[in-house]
This record gives sequence, structure tokens and C-alpha cells, in this order.
Amino acid sequence: MSRPTTLANDLIAAQARDLKMPGLARVFEPLGRQALEEHWSYEDYLHDVLAAEQVSRQESAVRNRLREARFPEIKTLDTFDFTATDSAVSPAVVAELARGAWIARRENVIFAGPIGTGKTHLAIALGVEAARQRRRVLFRRAADLVCSLLEARDARELMRLQRRLQYVELLVIDELGFVPFDRAGGELLFNLITERYERGSVLLTTNLAFAEWPKVFAADEKLTTALLDCLAHHATVITTKGKSYRMKQRAKPIDQPPGGPTQPPLTKPTRKE
Ligand code: ADP
Ligand code: MG
Repeated sequence: MSRPTTLANDLIAAQARDLKMPGLARVFEPLGRQALEEHWSYEDYLHDVLAAEQVSRQESAVRNRLREARFPEIKTLDTFDFTATDSAVSPAVVAELARGAWIARRENVIFAGPIGTGKTHLAIALGVEAARQRRRVLFRRAADLVCSLLEARDARELMRLQRRLQYVELLVIDELGFVPFDRAGGELLFNLITERYERGSVLLTTNLAFAEWPKVFAADEKLTTALLDCLAHHATVITTKGKSYRMKQRAKPIDQPPGGPTQPPLTKPTRKE
């Protein structure tokens, strides 16, 4: 049986739409022409068409994961300058984290250090890597997360929110310590994190030293110690240090392109001892 090519193509395009196979829809015609010219076997043609559909599905799954993660912006590891971290952040350790085995093991990562030292950048970049590996990721600032938990509790929807949060494989909690919580908020965050213990990964960034954590949790030392125990039990802790990256960049007249700096430097370049 043989139909005119245009009719057959229209039928296949309609089938591809019906079966939700956009990758196949894109390639079946051009590959068909190529197959004819180069005398491919039917099997080779079918294989290449299905491979295109597979790639298309993988890409769309990654796009979905990235959208669902709700990153405030996209940051990646290739734009992270490890030489600007005063050797506090090891490229090898971060590369290992980017491979994602720690998420499979349901371990945690903590980035602690002063403001502007790349904690959020690294947190997003590792989250993006995990999403690219098609893991379920969610990024929330600590204060927003606590707000959502309190709102859900007031609306009697806490269980539902907790279930949704437990469903993600990597929960990124950014900026713990910027805003202190009241007792109820602190307890809800505590419960969320302790519930995740050995069930799902947490990546947390904070500007506080561990000794300062009780400040965030309404001075509840017991709760804070229990939380730290739970988080740090299976955790990679990376302590960033030094001056804010942006301030450093501004204070770097030597590295300006020819033509001079566009802005006067704020401070003199500091020399590392
Ligand atoms: P933190 O979360 O530690 O306060 P951020 O990650 O928000 O700091 O960093 C502030 C800004 O500086 C961001 O735009 C970030 O991309 C950039 N930045 C910080 N450290 C680096 C670095 N080592 N390489 C490249 N960009 C950096
Ligand atoms: Mg930050």
C-alpha cells in the first residue's frame, strides 16, 4: 500500500500530535528524505526518529523540573569563579556534589559564610544540576518557607503542604538567619527538616555560625541543637569566607579592560597575606 507522500506526512503529523510526540513530529520528514537518499534500512530510520523523540522528552522533563524548582534566577557552576573564594570552596568537592550522589543518599549540604560570598549562587547551581538530572527540586528562602508553613497551618492545610514538601528530593532553604522566626515558625521549620531526615536532602545556606543558630529559633537551644544534629549528621559543610564577591569585583582596577574602569573603585585592592 502506498499513499501520496504529502497525505502520509499529514497523517503522521496528526498521529504525532495525538500521541504527544513532538520530537518525532519535528524529524520524521527530513529524516525520511535523508533515509531515502542514503538507502537506510527501515530499522535505522525508525531508530533515529525514536531517538529524537527520546531526546525531546528528556529535554522537556528537565524544563519542567527547572520550572517547578522555582529558582529566583538561574546560576550555574560554569559562571562561578572558584579562585575568588580564598580557597574556601573546593572545585573538586563542588564537582562531586554536582554529580548528585549525595541526593541519592539523602544527605545534606550546608553553605555557611558572610553575605555576598556565593552561597546562594552555589545553592542554585547545585539545584540546577539536580534538576538537569531530573530530580525534584524546590528552592525557598527560609523566611518565605516559614511564612508558607504558618499560612498553611492557619488554613488547616499544613498536612498537604508538608506532603508536597516531602515529595521533593532536594529542598533548598536559602538565607537561614536573615529573619528570626517566632517560636511557632521555628518549630514548623524544625519539624519539616527533622521529618526529612534520611528521607530527602536539604541544601541550606546561612550567614550564621552554628553557635548563632539559636538566635533564629527564638533562643530555643534544645530545638536548635536537635536540628543541627539532624542536619549535620550526614552533611557536607562548606564555609565560605572573605569579602563580598561584588565588592571585590568593584575594588579591582587592575583587572579592568583597557580603557579604564567604568566606575571608580570603592576601596583599594586588598592584598592577600
Ligand atoms: P550569598 O548568598 O553568599 O550572600 P550570592 O551567591 O548571592 O552571595 O552572591 C552575590 C553575587 O555575587 C551573585 O550575583 C553571585 O552570582 C556573585 N558571586 C558570588 N561569589 C561568586 C563567585 N565566586 N564567582 C562568581 N560569582 C559570584
Ligand atoms: Mg544568599
